[in-house]
Amino acid sequence: MKKQKIIIANWKMSLTLIQTLGLAKRYRDKFKDFKLGEVVICCSTPAIADVAKLLKKTNINLGAQNVFWEEIGPFTGEVSPLMLIELGCRYVIIGHSERRNHLFENYEMVNKKIKTVLKTEKLIPVVCIGESWQERKTDKRDYILVEQLQLALAGINVFGNQTVIIAYEPIWAIGTGTAIEPTEAEYAHKIIRLALNDLFNTQIVSRNFKIIYGGSIASGNVKSFVDLENMDGLLVGGASLDAVEFYKIAKILTK
Ligand code: PEP
Repeated sequence: MKKQKIIIANWKMSLTLIQTLGLAKRYRDKFKDFKLGEVVICCSTPAIADVAKLLKKTNINLGAQNVFWEEIGPFTGEVSPLMLIELGCRYVIIGHSERRNHLFENYEMVNKKIKTVLKTEKLIPVVCIGESWQERKTDKRDYILVEQLQLALAGINVFGNQTVIIAYEPIWAIGTGTAIEPTEAEYAHKIIRLALNDLFNTQIVSRNFKIIYGGSIASGNVKSFVDLENMDGLLVGGASLDAVEFYKIAKILTK
């Protein structure tokens, strides 16, 4: 059976709270009859409660852009997975390259975050991996991807119908307007699937994991990505800030 495709909007810190609510309303109106795929909005943490109210009777799911690796305690400035659940989040992005670059988040932290999130049994981690331009130039991409996965997923067990999403996001393609060639994305997704098969068994990988692509996707280039064999969905940054554009991408993805 084919998995339902997922499309995740990452609004990053691109909007004020008022702008966030405006965009959430435009999504609510645009997606009111959309049933073909799973749509997720990851807005800034302070906006989640209000966006959740707006999206209450819709098919749009909510996600967060980050989470801490402890459930509760003296961790000034951090956000607990339990709070995200209380706010109505179903998804959480973990280890986005912008956090790895600007905040020195590493795969040891990513690993702890995934463990805590899976322990809640209510949140789905969207784990970001991907090579830098430098790493790509040295032809080490395959090795980098496998190593990132091994570190991120070390000691992790996936039970029952828990879902883990791996987002392949080549860092050089994020926010640059230059997406990867679709054939290259398919190749990277195959590498990811093989590495996952080594870490878990193939049955778990096909049942519990989704592999999605992120990096400069827009309505103009998405068509050539949708039929790739190992492509379960998309993580979209810049283009998700326009509800009409994001809707076009979602329609093409789930056609
Ligand atoms: C992202 O930040 O996850 C992303 C995919 O951004 P963009 O679509 O703007 O490249």
